[in-house]
Amino acid sequence: MTAAATRALPVASLVVENASEVLTMARPGLSGPRRRDDLREIGRIADGAVACADGDIVWVGPRSELAGAVTLPPDATRVDAEGGTVTPGFVDSHTHLIFGGSRHDEFERRILGQTYQEITAAGGGIRSSVRHTRAASEEELAEQGRARLDLILRHGTTTVECKSGYGLSTEHEMKQLRALERASRGHAVETVSTFLGAHEFPPEFDDDHDGYVDLLVNEMIPEVAESGLAEFADVFCEKGVYTPQQARRVLVAAAEQGLRPRLHADEFAPSGAAELAVELGALSADHLSAVSEAGVRALADSPTLGTVLPGTTFSCRIPGANARHLIDAGVALVVATDLNPGSCAVDSMGVILGLACIQLGMLPREALVAATINAAYSLDRADRIGSLEPGKQADLLVLGVPDHRCVPYRFGTNHVRTVVKRGRVVVS
Ligand SMILES: [Zn+2]
Repeated sequence: MTAAATRALPVASLVVENASEVLTMARPGLSGPRRRDDLREIGRIADGAVACADGDIVWVGPRSELAGAVTLPPDATRVDAEGGTVTPGFVDSHTHLIFGGSRHDEFERRILGQTYQEITAAGGGIRSSVRHTRAASEEELAEQGRARLDLILRHGTTTVECKSGYGLSTEHEMKQLRALERASRGHAVETVSTFLGAHEFPPEFDDDHDGYVDLLVNEMIPEVAESGLAEFADVFCEKGVYTPQQARRVLVAAAEQGLRPRLHADEFAPSGAAELAVELGALSADHLSAVSEAGVRALADSPTLGTVLPGTTFSCRIPGANARHLIDAGVALVVATDLNPGSCAVDSMGVILGLACIQLGMLPREALVAATINAAYSLDRADRIGSLEPGKQADLLVLGVPDHRCVPYRFGTNHVRTVVKRGRVVVS
């Protein structure tokens, strides 16, 4: 008897088989955020299968090897992919998922030609969402948030980052963070919480922006850190919002309290925010549609990932990030929705993948890597999610297309047929 025959095989509780292709997003020897050519490494296995047990993946490989690789008891769940494509669950690493109200009126104004800045100056924009969020109860926000989690799960998002930032006072920021915690309790979508009290300046501090930064540093950040309701801190660093100096003060104070930095950087105009993100060791610098050449150089080969948000530039009708240049320079790219009530009301990662390809010139495989394993790195969860490898959490999708390129190619359709989260079928 050979050693292989005597070794006990893992017992699978769920298998996915009959897939035209399984994209693992992995390759032996490949680790760390993917950049340059590695951003194209989708780890394609033709006619592949995946086996899971106890919420984790135990085996991935060609279907012909499945029977010799795992033991499959009669009561195991068998998911027939029916010739579809299997990928890791989407990781949406930048959203503003908890908010009150809706801004469809601004949508119309943008079409009539008003800019984001003009709408903000007229009392719209983030401040409009602040009014509605402050007026809503924690229960209402949680209920609406839960409905959005249901929706994004059906579109294949299995992990989502959610920012506060529509409260802009200690009371209402805490309410928003508690609403997220409440919405996600027991929900299949895993949430990652970010404190974004520095999203805008509240009207009460119109004449005293530094006074609000003092409040953030001296009161809000310590309270949020103490509550354990957020893991990251973020700042909207942009002309007319937070200066790089103010952003630095907020993020340094947050880091001292254990909230790790991320940054809204260089969306409308270059401000040095990307450079600041790298300097502060932020996990990600997000937007980058107007990043300077110095910003690109700072991000290149740095541990700070660059997150592009094509739905936002598309919705705001402004030029998108120069993804090809960022990739060639060596920035590890992430693609996310930026789901929010104003500048991008898109909740589907499939739509975002389409826009990443069509608007930003990314290849379908680059967009997929950016939306899975790189997004997981940007949330410091790449050891658990973002790729299909033995030992990792079994978060995966069966997409009703024979080739992954059909997802961005036919981006108007939700191709998600089955969602598996922690080894359990949660959408079918
Ligand atoms: Zn944002």
